[in-house]
Amino acid sequence: MIALSTAAQPQGTGSIPLTADQPQAAALPLAGLRGLIVGVANEHSIAWGCARQMQAQGARLVLSCLNEKARPHVAPLAEAIDAPLLSCDVSQPGQMEAMVRHALEHLGGLDFVVHAIAWAPADDLHGRVIDSSPEGFNQAMRISCHSFSELARLCEPALARQGGTLLTLSYLGAEGVVPHYGLMGPVKAALEALVRYMAVELGPQGVRVHALSPGPVPTRAASGLVAFDQLMAHASSSAPLRRLVTLDEIGACAAFLVGPGATGMTGQTIFVDAGVHALR
Ligand code: NAD
Repeated sequence: MIALSTAAQPQGTGSIPLTADQPQAAALPLAGLRGLIVGVANEHSIAWGCARQMQAQGARLVLSCLNEKARPHVAPLAEAIDAPLLSCDVSQPGQMEAMVRHALEHLGGLDFVVHAIAWAPADDLHGRVIDSSPEGFNQAMRISCHSFSELARLCEPALARQGGTLLTLSYLGAEGVVPHYGLMGPVKAALEALVRYMAVELGPQGVRVHALSPGPVPTRAASGLVAFDQLMAHASSSAPLRRLVTLDEIGACAAFLVGPGATGMTGQTIFVDAGVHALR
């Protein structure tokens, strides 16, 4: 059983009673939308925060995890929201193509894609940026940044049919130096620039592109950063809202961006970080 906070409930369903001839699905903001969510590792993943909010708001989803080793951690989550689970390592030739093909077969089309993956070799991540190896830097860029454009190219024909949204995940370290964020800073900066270029290239077809930039949340990827606990403690004490954000808040913001309320927006990096970005 998955516990959803009240933030998961669509606005208005508490106060406006539904009649028998108004099916509940019609009241949900994402009813009728189909999405592919890439990057679920476990119940702490931001991708999972997005998936459970989007499903609660009426979307039909396909989830993807890295490989067979990850599957046992993700399968119960996928089952709980009735979503098929695929696997895809974006660094392996052909795997993204297969994932998109299977997602389209399952869903019969695609209205949005969430790209919630990042990776860098530990040695390159933990050292100075100027000491990073060309191989490590390239791998981090390939997996954490360029894969978003590859995914966009593969999904373009489906998304362009009736308009759609591509969403990726960034972090404040793209805009300014965050201690210990290391080479992921330049990688996320490139990702945010990529979002703007993709928005211009895909906008004429009605495809919108955004980066969502959350404050720190304890996930497996985050645990790979040195002094991440200190980063969270500092964010929580200095944030205008004096706290960290939750997975539900990140997911709700992602759901808004792929939904009908955001159809006039594209090419943005949206912060959901309890206001920390305002301190820069
Ligand atoms: P997570 O560990 O739950 O998710 C990262 C995912 O990336 C995992 O599912 C992992 O399997 C996947 N991945 C790594 N290499 C891959 C590859 N070669 N092919 C396919 N998938 C691969 O951690 P998370 O924090 O939920 O990370 C999701 C996104 O959110 C990342 O882009 C991260 O940079 C971003 N983000 C995280 C935070 C935070 O504080 N946790 C803050 C801002 C942004």
